[in-house]
Amino acid sequence: MYINGNWAAATADASFDVINPATGQVIKGVADGGRAEARSAIEAAHEALPAWREATAYQRSAFLMRAHALMLERQEDLARVMTEEQGKPLRAAQTEVRYAADFLVWFAEEAKRVYGEIIPSARADQRFLITHRPVGVVAAITPWNYPISMITRKLGPALAAGCTVVLKPAEATPLTAIETYRVFEDAGLPPGVVNLVTAADPKPIGEEFTENPLVRKLTFTGSTAVGKMLAGRAAGNMKRVSCELGGHAPFIVLEDADPVHAAKGLQLVKFLNTGQACISPNRIYVHRAILDDFVETLVGRVGAMKAGGGFEKGVTIGPLVNEAAVAKVDKQVQDARDHGAEVMLGGRRLTEDGLDQGYFYAPTVLNGVTSEMLIYREETFGPVAAIVPFEDEDEVLAMANDTHYGLAAYVYTQNLGKAMRLYEGLEFGIVGVNDINPASAAAPFGGMKDSGLGREGSREGIMEYLETKTGGFSI
Ligand code: ADP
Repeated sequence: MYINGNWAAATADASFDVINPATGQVIKGVADGGRAEARSAIEAAHEALPAWREATAYQRSAFLMRAHALMLERQEDLARVMTEEQGKPLRAAQTEVRYAADFLVWFAEEAKRVYGEIIPSARADQRFLITHRPVGVVAAITPWNYPISMITRKLGPALAAGCTVVLKPAEATPLTAIETYRVFEDAGLPPGVVNLVTAADPKPIGEEFTENPLVRKLTFTGSTAVGKMLAGRAAGNMKRVSCELGGHAPFIVLEDADPVHAAKGLQLVKFLNTGQACISPNRIYVHRAILDDFVETLVGRVGAMKAGGGFEKGVTIGPLVNEAAVAKVDKQVQDARDHGAEVMLGGRRLTEDGLDQGYFYAPTVLNGVTSEMLIYREETFGPVAAIVPFEDEDEVLAMANDTHYGLAAYVYTQNLGKAMRLYEGLEFGIVGVNDINPASAAAPFGGMKDSGLGREGSREGIMEYLETKTGGFSI
């Protein structure tokens, strides 16, 4: 753990093992922190707050710029640590490190643009002056699927705004968090500005984060169930909250779309990170007129994907995170099969060539998925493309919106009017139109409905870490 500028073991030297999901082997032990460590980290962040808050935006920006440069310099090492503990192919890990670094440089720049306002008053003797102040100590909880970019997407804006931070990374991927903190340490961040508490059991840390009065904001990325529980507790104590939660993205391919282009796009975005992404398409609506061409291209491309350890050349599909994830994916696939879906490809755990040691599931294509199936409602978080054929374009928008999630949606069409109507009608925070990567440090990322609260990245992202302060001056 990293508390007040020192690397620390847990009290009583408790530790927990980090597992390589491709082999099931232990990589190494990591400090197992509890409530006491979370409390000291929060106190350290509280102590460090006044000086950090009062530093100029230019000074804070310079630290972030240094961290950005160091992160890029260490790209290869960071990616290797990530591949080992998270499983994603090395190239994907490298891409993620660059994406993570983007948030540091973006918010280093945004730090200098936290503008205020002067507002005219109805009273001749009055002036209104509006400024923005950092919320204070931020508690951050991050997931294992994007172990580095979810850290910088929170810490970048928090630090730029003048907040100090305590982070609890996911128990599956603490090693990437530790290496990321070495970057912050070497960038020269003052002690206490960023603190790291690793733990096998997140519950006591979550309790401290939501109950300690020194914490002014909770930022969380993870499952909807945990997010709602933590947001409820934090809000009960009047802490600011932002949450980026689950999704169930529709991917709509209209009759006029190029089915080959759409299938290529679907393959890239669906199997990214082995389907373990909150913006992963979960219901793929394809117009019946182009269904055969779409399925043929998709099956051909997915069939050519190679599963294996992330360090192996040519591997494009890594393992799932753990045994429970394999069981969940398989349950959805079996349920779909039992309810009449056709398994075009995959549909089973992979056990050959030593893959039985890890948590591998075959890239799977299901056709004829209907609303009666589990996969139509539950987030899959695995390598399964669930195709829902449709005929009526007027109905597809209602079907796509028929979910309590609202994070990402995708549309393929060549018709500008239809593209615009779907963009406007889809109740999702992010809509990709003939575009499978509608995410960037420059663009707001976040969901509607049960997919979360607030936006990350972009010019909006820093506002989540700022309070608005009104000054009324009588002259
Ligand atoms: P997933 O199902 O994708 O693992 P989770 O929501 O369980 O998603 O995990 C996301 C993050 O939330 C992780 O850092 C995890 O440790 C943390 N987390 C899970 N349960 C709790 C809890 N009760 N209190 C605080 N943090 C939690």
